[in-house]
Amino acid sequence: MAGNWKMFKTPAETQAFFEKFLPLVEKSTHCEILICPPFVNLAAAAAATAGSGVGVGGQNLYWAPEGAFTGEISAPMLKAAGCRSVIIGHSERRQFFGETDETVAKKTKAALAAGLQPVVCVGEMLDERESGQTNAVLERQFRGGLGSLTPQEFAQVVIAYEPVWAIGTGRTATPEIAADAHKFLREQVRGSFPDSAAGVRILYGGSVKPDNIKGLMAQPDIDGALVGGASLEAISFASIVNF
Ligand code: PEP
Repeated sequence: MAGNWKMFKTPAETQAFFEKFLPLVEKSTHCEILICPPFVNLAAAAAATAGSGVGVGGQNLYWAPEGAFTGEISAPMLKAAGCRSVIIGHSERRQFFGETDETVAKKTKAALAAGLQPVVCVGEMLDERESGQTNAVLERQFRGGLGSLTPQEFAQVVIAYEPVWAIGTGRTATPEIAADAHKFLREQVRGSFPDSAAGVRILYGGSVKPDNIKGLMAQPDIDGALVGGASLEAISFASIVNF
């Protein structure tokens, strides 16, 4: 269960969140829990979660390990800041910051080389769904972003299916729509990385809330959730984790 805080919260607010959140998930050993705060909150999040089992992740990275790339953060830097994972290819990065399948592939390889677990996002826009292109988009994003990994590399990857029309809109995909996309993605994995097909974790993301998580998690191919808005509040995210 992963929380994407996007561009919300300060270090003090991060600390306050974990003071409330950690006791609520103390006994939640049924899943891995990950929070991805803005970069400036990583130190506060790493300190607050030390020894708790709750992981911390970045929301993006740049593929070079270091260099003259003003404003960017590298995979080894995330690792040194206490990150376990990193979100790559979120639709907001694809829409507003020029992320492409090619940059997703470079970032994924850089994350793996630094020992970070990549959480790679794929998902169709509304017009693509309405014009029947959902599977073609997912296949293109899967192949372009992940197709060049070795089987050993792919085994470390988590996929997040996030239909763009469901992100931050309050319009969740029905469990059946999500399940169809997850099944299709697992078939893609079976085609390219057969040994990982059964074990790869595919998270659903898009307006996940405490009142719809149960129906989503009841679907066989949905292994977890990537949660935006509802991960910002401790009680709300804890009830999603403890669905
Ligand atoms: C997200 O940011 O990945 C996301 C799914 O957002 P929300 O849950 O707010 O739709």
